Amino acid sequence: MLLTTSESSTYSASEVAGRLQVDIRTGLKWTEAKYRSKIIGHNELNVNEEEPTWKKYIEQFKNPLILLLLGSALVSVIMKQYDDAVSITIAIIIVVTVAFIQEYRSEKSLEELKKLVPPECHCLREGQLDTFLARELVPGDVVYLNVGDRVPADVRLFEAIDLSIDESSFTGETEPGRKSTELILSSATNKDHTNMKNVAFMGTLVRCGNGKGIVVSTGERSEFGEVFKMMQAEEAPKTPLQKSMDILGAQLSFYSFLIIGVIMLLGWLQGKPLTEMFNISVSLAVAAIPEGLPIVVTVTLALGVMRMAKRNAIVKKLPTVETLGCVNVICSDKTGTLTKNEMTATIIITSDGYMADVTGAGYNDQGEIHIRNCNNVEMAKSNITNLLEIGAVCNNAYIQNGTLLGQPTEGALIAVAMKNGMYATAENYVRIQEYPFSSEQKMMAVKCIHKYNNNKEEIFFAKGALEMLLPQCTKYMFGTQTVPLTKQNEAEFLAEAYEIGRKGLRVLALAKGRSLQDLIYCGLVGITDPPRPLVRESIEMLMQSGVRVKMVTGDAQETAMAIANLIGIDTIHQQTLSGQEMDQLNEHQLDKVANNVSVFYRVTPRHKLAIVKSLQRTGNIVGMTGDGVNDGVALKKADIGIAMGKNGTDVCKEAADMILVNDDFHTIIAAIEEGKAIFYNIRNFVRFQLSTSIAALSLIALATLMGIANPLNAMQILWINIIMDGPPAQSLGVEPVDHDVLKQKPRNIIS
Ligand code: ATP
Repeated sequence: MLLTTSESSTYSASEVAGRLQVDIRTGLKWTEAKYRSKIIGHNELNVNEEEPTWKKYIEQFKNPLILLLLGSALVSVIMKQYDDAVSITIAIIIVVTVAFIQEYRSEKSLEELKKLVPPECHCLREGQLDTFLARELVPGDVVYLNVGDRVPADVRLFEAIDLSIDESSFTGETEPGRKSTELILSSATNKDHTNMKNVAFMGTLVRCGNGKGIVVSTGERSEFGEVFKMMQAEEAPKTPLQKSMDILGAQLSFYSFLIIGVIMLLGWLQGKPLTEMFNISVSLAVAAIPEGLPIVVTVTLALGVMRMAKRNAIVKKLPTVETLGCVNVICSDKTGTLTKNEMTATIIITSDGYMADVTGAGYNDQGEIHIRNCNNVEMAKSNITNLLEIGAVCNNAYIQNGTLLGQPTEGALIAVAMKNGMYATAENYVRIQEYPFSSEQKMMAVKCIHKYNNNKEEIFFAKGALEMLLPQCTKYMFGTQTVPLTKQNEAEFLAEAYEIGRKGLRVLALAKGRSLQDLIYCGLVGITDPPRPLVRESIEMLMQSGVRVKMVTGDAQETAMAIANLIGIDTIHQQTLSGQEMDQLNEHQLDKVANNVSVFYRVTPRHKLAIVKSLQRTGNIVGMTGDGVNDGVALKKADIGIAMGKNGTDVCKEAADMILVNDDFHTIIAAIEEGKAIFYNIRNFVRFQLSTSIAALSLIALATLMGIANPLNAMQILWINIIMDGPPAQSLGVEPVDHDVLKQKPRNIIS
């Protein structure tokens, strides 16, 4: 019954469905899916055969410092100082074993971390659309793909609306490929992945549009299996801190050898026997080397990463931890990061001036629509219903038992329609085409036909930001009439939108019509999205510790300002700047103003990138949050790219250095705190270890110079280094940090 991915592209979608025994309208049954999963296995790629443990152990000996110690042991053997040789060897074994165990443990925990943000998928089973872990998918499952999603398995598409998929991780092609559902006839071309237009490959990213398809290959059977194995072979680079530790180690060795050389020379000039000098030099070498240092650094970083994970910040790469302590500007999204992203429509204004307040919260029908004083309640009701119909039809979200699948903004529109008793309005229409929402266009439209009307006329429903929608409108609804739209009307509608926005509400304009260029404007819905708890406190704390917070939002100025004021972002001494205004500025001009802007509004992902670059040019270390599909580039460019774990798209999570599991701004503070703490801890124990090494080195050097017998032999120094230095250094590494440290200004990256 199974098909390969390339075979599936040569069959029609219904044939594929037939072969995989699935009804694409309802998906598989749960019992059937479980059965298939048992036989075929989970949809996951098994990690490469790991290096055997003994090899990892041997690797530890490759450390230059350990090699140096081995050299000393060898010298001791040659000098027939067997007791020294034995104790040095025992010491080496202890150091190596401790290092090995600690590294092994932190590696394992870091692996566990990766599982904390597992890929999910939207799958249809038994007629219900569900979101669950992608590893549960089996061939035959029907999956929905949305803009920003990572394709969870090889999928034969049977619906593709404006669907473009970025297959660069796979084919190397940088331009996203457009997908269609038609079958491909020639099987000769099938080997070429770019030709398989009707297949979405596992691991690729949906850049635009949406689609539906049947899972054909999962896990290792997918075309991505091979590529994945190659990617796994890549080794993680060393962190800058580890690198500087390596340099420190090399420098230490160099200087200690220099001193040892000088002392030996002096001893020789003093006429001391060569064997004694050798003995002393071994002690010196042992004294100078902070044996445990590199491992303590790695372990401290790894422990820090785990602590951050407990506080809901998943750091993908160890260097991020260090950079976190240096960030001095954070550019944050508004929706979902500073606010809760729990959208509720609270006000409705029709184009003929009827107003209604909406009560209730959450994605359900609990709440009422109260029409404000008016002379014609029936007319108001009918126009509000007309308005809400647009919102419900031009919509891709679903509400199932109080939970929302889809965008919160769209969920709010469905909920308010439900409060008006309109539960299945969208089902009255057949959707022919969708013009998907994008942050650039700031609107979305659908082309439909009414199912039960005999005239099969096409009708467009559109929603979006008012200033983007109005230019497409030529008329507006007035009572039951459509009236030509004048400049004066436009100004009035914009003023209404401004008034709603000023209260901090997101404003959506709604329109419909026979053509997209000739729409009838029907009114506005104001949607509230309250600030997250603790955001105000977090921003205040950040400002105290020298980190400035800038809001970067796609919403209108008044909405952004209202929320900014609520959460304590300074809009009085600082300016606001719109995406459009940014377009008028050249790089140099932008650099001049960007530092003094606290709210960037009506921006697109392209502007986000310009903001990051500009702030970096003026010497800032920038953290940038993002959730949308196009935010990826800005996140990559930022010193710390921060993605949202819950509402963020997979594209974003891919590009980010850090993921906020709970999407909460407050978590950034926790992460910065940890970052600073880790850096200070590492600095403390490096100082501690160096001070003991230098003390031992000076003691022996002085004793030799003054001709006194060697006060400490190699064995004693070694034990001091291991037993006395190791544990305290490690505990300094995990020390909770003083609050004063956290309040300190961001560290200068150069120091
Ligand atoms: P933030 O940066 O605060 O998270 P954003 O950049 O994600 O916000 P967008 O989602 O781009 O903001 O929304 C910008 C504007 O686009 C909104 O003010 C709204 O008018 C409009 N809009 C948002 N979602 C939709 C949608 N699903 N359909 C149509 N228009 C929308």
